[in-house]
Amino acid sequence: MKEELIRKVQLTDKEMPTAWYNIQADLKDLPPYLNPQTLKPVTAEELAPIFPPEIIKQEMSKERYIDIPDEVQDIYHTYRPSNLHRAYGLERMLGTPAKIFYKYEGNNATGSHKLNSAVPQAYYNKAAGIKRLTTETGAGQWGSALSMACCHFGLECQVYMVKVSYNQKPMRRTFMQTFGAGVAASPSNLTQFGRDYLAQNPDSNGNLGIAISEAVEDAVSRSDTNYALGSVLNHVAMHQTIIGLETQKQFEKIDMYPDIVIACAGGGSNFSGIAFPFVRDKLQGKADTRIIAAESAACPSLTKGVYAYDYSDVGHMCPITKMYTLGANFMPSGVHAGGLRYHGMNPIVSKLYHDGVIEAAAYSQLDTLKAGMAFAQAEGIIPAPESTHAIKCAMDEALKAKEEGVSKTIVFCLSGNGYFDMYAYEALLAGSLKDSNAPEIDKNKISLPKIAGLQE
Ligand SMILES: *Cc1c(COP(=O)(O)O)cnc(C)c1O
Repeated sequence: MKEELIRKVQLTDKEMPTAWYNIQADLKDLPPYLNPQTLKPVTAEELAPIFPPEIIKQEMSKERYIDIPDEVQDIYHTYRPSNLHRAYGLERMLGTPAKIFYKYEGNNATGSHKLNSAVPQAYYNKAAGIKRLTTETGAGQWGSALSMACCHFGLECQVYMVKVSYNQKPMRRTFMQTFGAGVAASPSNLTQFGRDYLAQNPDSNGNLGIAISEAVEDAVSRSDTNYALGSVLNHVAMHQTIIGLETQKQFEKIDMYPDIVIACAGGGSNFSGIAFPFVRDKLQGKADTRIIAAESAACPSLTKGVYAYDYSDVGHMCPITKMYTLGANFMPSGVHAGGLRYHGMNPIVSKLYHDGVIEAAAYSQLDTLKAGMAFAQAEGIIPAPESTHAIKCAMDEALKAKEEGVSKTIVFCLSGNGYFDMYAYEALLAGSLKDSNAPEIDKNKISLPKIAGLQE
């Protein structure tokens, strides 16, 4: 086949990986989650009120590969393996010698990669006899994914949706309700935390940290109910490695290996998903790949935050985590990339960044949505506002390659499509879109837990 004709690299059903990659097997000295009261590493028993045994095991496992259950593979097969596309249109638009590829994760009903973790999480809870799951959602993609997964396994689903999105994205709400989920605007009056928060801040638009606290409180208060998180945690990152494992097989098929791997990073799950298998190769000395996390300048936890133990949620109900953070009370401005507005970052991604294994860059929304529009025109897919950060980063790297006159192979994760987020493009077209980057951040003033001995 002429090279020009390799427009997309497909895997057959049989070629879909049947195990996830657990990077914890290959990393030493990962700081444990701590109990905020005792400062001791969190135990499996302490997590049992909100997670099923298999998820707890995976969160702390050192096993290198973990089999994907048949029931989960069955659902994966309805939308996976996902295609690896060659972005010829974008390459021509940029006039770059770089070869740009993207792994498209928006090709399922929910429109993003989040279904890759929603399905196993619903499955393991069902297997443990749980009847109902609670969760939070910001932009709505995770709530949509969990609603669909719960519907499949016959679980009830209660979603706490950050109030500003609840009001801005009525179609996301309807999507979740279509799959039978209950959706509440957070802060809500369904939980004590929500009621207390509303009493103090009656006009609050909510944020992810508040919604997490509500969902956790709901799960803790009922024995038939567990909690599911769509990002940040290690088991979520591991479920997403199906993305990178497939990508590696696809590159093998065309006898190539990327020089640069890019993904946007909010809590770090789609980034982990595409990156961890490449990090494995890098740690083994098989390749010297550059691996870049593209974050929002409105919430730049890696590039502007500190690496420290911090709370994961506003209500301080969850374990404290060593990660790059802007502080649990950081209130990012209202950018369209709602999925990139978490104050912290997955602890493994944080450690890899701290150790210099991966890089990070932050982009503001005017630049990223313009990149998203260029990508749409060149490639025919309107990307999710979150994914446009990865596109912007890939475009910058491709232009750098052009300047340097070298041909680099670049792959990025197109984590989702933007068909529920057309307001972002509407604002860009209307000329009303503004940058809303985080204000200058003084690292010494980032609010961290005031617990003696914690940061030593
Ligand atoms: C949620 C989301 C993100 C950000 O979450 P990560 O856990 O960092 O991947 C990015 N892209 C899309 C499309 C999302 O839905």
